[in-house]
Amino acid sequence: MDGKWRNAADGATREILDPADAKPFATVAEGGVEDADAAIDAARRAFDHGEWPKTPVTERAALLRRVADLLVRDREKIGLLESRDAGKTVEEGRVDVDCVADAFRYFADLVIGEGPGRVVDAGSDTIHSVVVHEPIGVCAMITPWNYPLLQASWKIAPALAAGNTFVIKPSEVTPLTTVAMMDLLVEAGLPDGVGNLVTGPGHTVGARFSEHPDVDLISFTGGLISGTKVAQAAAVSVKKVALELGGKNPNVVFADALETEEGFDTAVDQALNAAFIHSGQVCSAGGRLIIEESARERFVAELARRAAKIRLGRGTEDGVECGPLVSQQQLDKTEGFVASALEEGAVLRSGGKRPEPSDVRPEGGYFYEPTVLDQCHREMRVVREEVFGPVLSVETFRTEDEAVALANDTEYGLAGGVWTADAGRARRMAARLRHGTVWINDFHPYLPQAEWGGFGKSGVGRELGPAGLAEYRESKHIYQNLAPEPVRWFAG
Ligand code: NAD
Repeated sequence: MDGKWRNAADGATREILDPADAKPFATVAEGGVEDADAAIDAARRAFDHGEWPKTPVTERAALLRRVADLLVRDREKIGLLESRDAGKTVEEGRVDVDCVADAFRYFADLVIGEGPGRVVDAGSDTIHSVVVHEPIGVCAMITPWNYPLLQASWKIAPALAAGNTFVIKPSEVTPLTTVAMMDLLVEAGLPDGVGNLVTGPGHTVGARFSEHPDVDLISFTGGLISGTKVAQAAAVSVKKVALELGGKNPNVVFADALETEEGFDTAVDQALNAAFIHSGQVCSAGGRLIIEESARERFVAELARRAAKIRLGRGTEDGVECGPLVSQQQLDKTEGFVASALEEGAVLRSGGKRPEPSDVRPEGGYFYEPTVLDQCHREMRVVREEVFGPVLSVETFRTEDEAVALANDTEYGLAGGVWTADAGRARRMAARLRHGTVWINDFHPYLPQAEWGGFGKSGVGRELGPAGLAEYRESKHIYQNLAPEPVRWFAG
């Protein structure tokens, strides 16, 4: 805060648990409302009286690039920290760091390449009209626990590129890599007060960020319930709101994609990845397999066979493919979803329980087997609500129209995949799906250059791409009359 590390105002601390064994392995300050206010105050002063908003874009971009270089330098250390904190494999942690560095570089390039504004033709050579972009002011950021550093960087990088100051609150469950990021920002030369971090709970620190009158924009990534509270609190002071919320993402497989052995193998492999990477704790997880009826039995049998072979364990162990869930709460929630699906008539094809402890799976870790539930239908809770665990539900369709209706039958609209060998069908499906990202014959990749965000209750606004920078800016129209004259509207 304001360039210095400090304890929480009331001295409170929180132990951070390793999800692989539920044992504490780090301690952080547990900030509260007083700390949130102090951080916002620092960011406000740095915006209103500091140099950063006026710093030339070339210098801001240079700082972003230095941060990217530092991330590359610390790739192993931060990747390992993310693995221990969030439970993912170390390799996933490393990939996250690479993606974070890419985001910093992308926004550095974007802001440099833009030019000073957009000249508007006012229809007269005596009028000079230009639209310029300015930083919004103090941006508050709240992030979740599944991709802690990645989600933070999609906010921090564009906010800084645009010349804002910020306060950030990472998830209380996984704050450690965001703490590490603050050190990198300082090392890269970020002036005091421009970036401020408060670790602490959502209902105190997050709620204060959302309602505080000195915050100009709140950017939130997390669940629908918390996101709704943030938007309600923000409305009172009419601050700008960006929400990246949940998803219930369809993966639609047409039989024509499975006619060759290679096509079949690829679609099964990717369906596995779509649903189970990071134990399904991905906002865009392909947790709803929607498959053409004629292909169901063979596809689901192979999927279940491979799901049962996924090597679960502590993310830092060699050969482990999938880590634990992040918390006891997430484990309980996942078990509840599977139990309700079975009660509602789903057929268990693999998983459905906690695995036995082993040499790579300590007792007490929040592990859950990758689970395939066949014979699901749209009325089931597991099909309608976000599980955020390693659970795949299977529904079937007979026609393209039916596939579209099922894929769009969700209150969310974050992402979806389509598998087909028919180019016309691919285009038709891409046009008809009401989701912010549509993958054709792929699942999960994203590009920093392309907007990320959702239709419906998946959120408001976009991250990444040019729109991800625009979120952090105000537009200003400057209309200059080079030859002013009286208007004479009023005769007297
Ligand atoms: P969560 O909503 O419980 O918490 C997210 C953040 O909000 C945390 O930092 C938490 O402390 C804070 N928070 C909680 N209550 C708050 C309140 N009243 N006011 C302000 N802040 C509050 O979500 P989670 O369990 O950490 O993350 C999982 C959710 O995040 C899933 O729904 C997932 O889909 C979503 N997510 C979305 C994206 C995306 O890009 N759309 C990316 C990652 C995660």
